[in-house]
Amino acid sequence: MLRRIRPRELTVPALGRFKAHKRCYKVLSIETSCDDTCVALIDRPQDTNEPSCPPSRPVVIDHLKKTLNSTTDGGVIPIKAHLHHQRSLAPLVREICKKHGIGPQNPPDLVCVTRGPGMPGCLTVGLEVAKGLAAAWSRPLVGVHHMLGHLLISRLQCKGQSGSPPQFPFLSLLVSGGHTILVYSKSVLEHEILAETIDIAAGDSLDKCARVIGMQGVMLGKELEQFVFSNVSGSEALSKSVNEYEAQLKKNPDFALMDLPNPLRNKTGRVNLLAFSFAPFITAVKTSLEKYHCNDINNMTLSKRKLIGYQIQTAIFQHITDKIKTALEVHKGKLEGVKDFVCSGGVGSSKLLKKMLQDQLGSNPNSAGKVSIEKFHFPEPALCTDNAIMIGWAGIELWESAKLYTDLNEGLPVRKWPLNHILGVDGWVNRS
Ligand code: ZN
Repeated sequence: MLRRIRPRELTVPALGRFKAHKRCYKVLSIETSCDDTCVALIDRPQDTNEPSCPPSRPVVIDHLKKTLNSTTDGGVIPIKAHLHHQRSLAPLVREICKKHGIGPQNPPDLVCVTRGPGMPGCLTVGLEVAKGLAAAWSRPLVGVHHMLGHLLISRLQCKGQSGSPPQFPFLSLLVSGGHTILVYSKSVLEHEILAETIDIAAGDSLDKCARVIGMQGVMLGKELEQFVFSNVSGSEALSKSVNEYEAQLKKNPDFALMDLPNPLRNKTGRVNLLAFSFAPFITAVKTSLEKYHCNDINNMTLSKRKLIGYQIQTAIFQHITDKIKTALEVHKGKLEGVKDFVCSGGVGSSKLLKKMLQDQLGSNPNSAGKVSIEKFHFPEPALCTDNAIMIGWAGIELWESAKLYTDLNEGLPVRKWPLNHILGVDGWVNRS
């Protein structure tokens, strides 16, 4: 699958500029795998060959995003998403290029694009535009795995940003409306999925549970959190709010009674099952409302509805946290050197989930012999959802560390692309 060619055989003129491992280049990136049409421009401003230079830090120059409105459809319809990208991508590319003086006289140095996994029609729109630009500007193309973008985004440390990025090996929870996976990453190209969902994603479940309790619109997981924790900001206020909810539940357990499950628990004949399951929560919410609350969601007091929302969030996040604990125990030998934990994806920006992960998985002096996480990384919400910055950054990592780019002929869309086989598709070219 991986084609090795000698530098003199390279036909992409821009490659000559990178031979001295110079990190001084501009990257244009495109993401169209689902319902967001995104374009970004990233700058890699320094030359690491110069010892007097401080460590190279990229600069995100711009990011444009246009999301398909699926409010009335109740989900993303592939043909509508395809049309949305066809309508939106070229204008967005034109806008970003015009705004930043990008064109035939001043092209970017590298073009990155999501190659998969995703809806083939949607991927094709982004890939064909990216290929066209790379060919027209004689620049190399890097076809990026969408989930690799989510995985590596927390390693993007921009100029002026404090803290240190996660170091390999690290663990990541990628949790959104489309996926829920726990990944162990050893390098840019080596990833192992430790647990994934057997039915629907956590975000999908939150969304459907929120509909059951009467919420309407899109991205209801986010709306549910805003409803439960309205006007709560900062970790202290969040802890206070959680304590208040717990106290209310303790004081009057029947007031907002819900029988919510913790699926795939260890039991006789089934131990340490490493997988997530979120579909049972939807049924349980429906059943509990019918059984204890006469399904009268519209006549409920606000405080009762909030308590129900809080219990739904807590139950789903506890299931996630428990399964991560199981993974840390089951794979403790393999995960010994892991100190960093990344939580990314749309649901990953939930304040309650972050708190539960930190409270329950953080370093604990009593957990001798077990893996204990020292540092948590939560990319900012705008980088947790689909965006082109993560595709540009993952492309930079593939280009710089793995020394790979994508052949314009063989780089086709990949509908299903296992994260543990990044190199398992045609079209990679090694530039070293
Ligand atoms: Zn995504």
